[in-house]
Amino acid sequence: MSLEPLDWQPPAVGTAVDAAGDLRWVRLPVPGPLGHINVWLAPGRSGRVLIDTGMNQPETHAAWDSLTESESLADGLEAILVTHHHPDHFGMAAALASRFSVPVRMSAPARAAAQGSLGSAGANALREYRETWGVDFEDLLLRARAAGVFEKLTSGVPAAAPPITDGERVAELRDPWRASVHFGHAEGHVCLHWQEAQLTISGDQLLPTISSNISLYPGAGSADPLADFLASLDRLGALSAQTIILPAHGQPFRGAPWRARQLRAGHERRLAQLLEFCREPRTTGALVGELFGARNLEGWNSLLAYGETLAHVRYLHVRNGLARLAQGGQVHWQRT
Ligand SMILES: [Zn+2]
Repeated sequence: MSLEPLDWQPPAVGTAVDAAGDLRWVRLPVPGPLGHINVWLAPGRSGRVLIDTGMNQPETHAAWDSLTESESLADGLEAILVTHHHPDHFGMAAALASRFSVPVRMSAPARAAAQGSLGSAGANALREYRETWGVDFEDLLLRARAAGVFEKLTSGVPAAAPPITDGERVAELRDPWRASVHFGHAEGHVCLHWQEAQLTISGDQLLPTISSNISLYPGAGSADPLADFLASLDRLGALSAQTIILPAHGQPFRGAPWRARQLRAGHERRLAQLLEFCREPRTTGALVGELFGARNLEGWNSLLAYGETLAHVRYLHVRNGLARLAQGGQVHWQRT
């Protein structure tokens, strides 16, 4: 069996359609090549529960204005659940929480990540990152910010609510959904599973056509994000092949075990490519070029490419596949 996209007609951006298990499938606008995010309205105890929220930008506010009307949310929304802190998922959480006077639940690590930000790493973490990995993160961040201000894409951090924990039966939901909490793409990424109905809301943790960004950043997040992500793929890959995966981007699909294996193989290819390339000592910048090509990496893409490359370098370094050579103030990597 391979990946089987379902032939469900997706909602137009800013609208909703029925999906399995009495869910409503909502699409919200996201700029750039992604184009959209899928968020979900699920039956709650008396009204409905929103799962993920969209990015804090005028187009999304407009979409929620019309969805409030078309989905009768004004007094029908009970709670908001957020899979993780990235702005396309979390961005509207605070704005919608105050609009509908509802609580926002997410995992404790996701909440901590939302409270921090890429720019909040302390001077020590930045210096350590530069010395260990040979990358001036402040410079990357400055160049990325010149291309767009990340912080404006979220509407703030909503009031604290009980955190979502791994294995929890999510009480806000009418049906017996359970949470699993994952790391690697984002700290404390929540997926939701209704096992009897063979449904999983996977957020960015298992996507049908793109591979989730896995990045090593200074002072924040996981120390070995690729190992964490591969462990998470093992968990999601253990779902039944019949389980319908409802991803944050793209089309719902079946075939989680196959997709998890395919994503793992993609990371293993990158690891092999780095080992091959590092038969000679190479700088970190050269490794980014090797994985992402000579194409112009501007702004946020440059930051993501460095973060992703270093997640793979880190994975190899802590497993003694790559040695770190510090020579004349420069860091090089060589196969052991
Ligand atoms: Zn994400």
